[in-house]
Amino acid sequence: MKNVPFGTCEICGEKTDTIAMLPIPREDGSLITMGCVPCAIEKGCWCETHDCPYQSFGPRGVTCLACIELLVWEHADRDYLNQVLPIVPTLREGNEDREDLSMAARAMGCSDGLAFVRWVCTAACLAGKSPDEIIRQALETKDASAILP
Ligand SMILES: [Zn+2]
Ligand SMILES: [Zn+2]
Repeated sequence: MKNVPFGTCEICGEKTDTIAMLPIPREDGSLITMGCVPCAIEKGCWCETHDCPYQSFGPRGVTCLACIELLVWEHADRDYLNQVLPIVPTLREGNEDREDLSMAARAMGCSDGLAFVRWVCTAACLAGKSPDEIIRQALETKDASAILP
């Protein structure tokens, strides 16, 4: 792959003032492609609300970090936590999952509840659904894999 000078979109080849790191894998194995805003929008990895590129969540997909933060902000109140936390142990068979979630939350340096809300909001942004839909879906399928980081 030939070198692309900074300021040139690697997708359309146009020279541009605004070049962004896009979460699009390149043929050379790099996980990032330098692209212009119109190409980023066309490739579905630009948040037009926040005017920033999406971040990669690996195989889970791409989404906007600012959009996740907004959702977390809207859902991180005690009432919501009290409502959703009790469902965590029922999401998977056995009791280990509650432990896993607690440990993962502690590793992130936040309370179980806030970590859980963040995971649900991240899953919601990645799937283009509401946090409530994500929780309902997890309860219906007894599968928390969409929520767990
Ligand atoms: Zn371009
Ligand atoms: Zn956004």
